[in-house]
Amino acid sequence: MPGARRISILGSTGSIGRNALDIIARKPADFKVTALASRSDWQTMASQARQYKPALVAVYQENAASRLRDQLRGSGIEVVEGVDGILEAASLDEADVVISAIVGAAGVMPTYAAVQSGKIVALANKEALVAAGRLITEEAQRTGARIIPVDSEHSALFQALMGQDRSAARKVILTASGGPFLGRNRVDLAGVTPAMALNHPRWKMGPKVTIDSATMMNKGLEIIEARWIFDIPADRIEVLIHPQSIVHGMVEYQDGSVMAQMGVTDMRIPIAFALSYPERLDMGLEPLDLASVGRLDFHAPDLEMFPCLGLAYRALKLGNGIPAVMNAANEVAVESFLSGKLAFNGIADVVRAVMDEPPEFDDKTLSGILRGDQLARAAARRITEMMESE
Ligand code: MG
Repeated sequence: MPGARRISILGSTGSIGRNALDIIARKPADFKVTALASRSDWQTMASQARQYKPALVAVYQENAASRLRDQLRGSGIEVVEGVDGILEAASLDEADVVISAIVGAAGVMPTYAAVQSGKIVALANKEALVAAGRLITEEAQRTGARIIPVDSEHSALFQALMGQDRSAARKVILTASGGPFLGRNRVDLAGVTPAMALNHPRWKMGPKVTIDSATMMNKGLEIIEARWIFDIPADRIEVLIHPQSIVHGMVEYQDGSVMAQMGVTDMRIPIAFALSYPERLDMGLEPLDLASVGRLDFHAPDLEMFPCLGLAYRALKLGNGIPAVMNAANEVAVESFLSGKLAFNGIADVVRAVMDEPPEFDDKTLSGILRGDQLARAAARRITEMMESE
């Protein structure tokens, strides 16, 4: 590539952040790290900072930031903290690309800040577009920021749309592995433990995304993301269960042609594509061997078994802040499930209950949406506590 791209990574200690750094280490002539940001894991941040030598490191938690500052004393690397520190890392002038990979609603403000500064935003955080899709995409149009999806399904759709007339696309199809509970029924799922749900058959991901995959809320969030990334209405976004996870997404055109993107289940492929777009890098990864995969299966998702998927379609159709409410309720419910308090099937029940009586807030501003997020969390906590004690 012409000159090294300067990369800031928000969420550098998580699964996406580590994979991104692995790509950067493989391609030192193509990429340079400008800033790293993370919530609290200062030990990992310290070793990442020593290896990649960013100008700035941001840590959300104050205590962790001061530990890291001690570690990096004399290195010339500046350590900043809190929300302001994360936002500084998101908008540094020196960066060309910002990888937005902070999990959950905590990633909304930093993503907005990166878009506001007109960066190329390699977007892995789902919640930013789910909660504030209209605001963020309108701001991107204003500043010229380019959002390139990192999520494998959206990367696939992005690639299947490249060089095509978008108005000729009839629908987009997101594939889903079906998670660890494919083929079971809702009664089987009543006794699912966090350990069972965390055991994803195809992808290695962080705990929040893995639980969302098991409930299929992950695919629900992805439907809403797709609506904003590709400016396509809900009724033209479909989901297909595809247990092998080889085809990541497809675009059906009006002439009947379907363009699909395929690849092994390695997140480094979509991450690298977002970093090097429109170029493609040789990272020395294992190639796709279709002969050994043998067969590709597809079938329609079971909405009774995975009610979260239906809830996400409902949220997208309702709009008016309901996707932000759904997302907040889901985050609270997933945390409660992971801590062993809420039953697996309770996750959808909590989300539905909060969506049925949503808090009122202004969804036209970022501060309004963040307030709605807080109100929905409080409602979800009340409902979760009631269900935990049952
Ligand atoms: Mg995905």
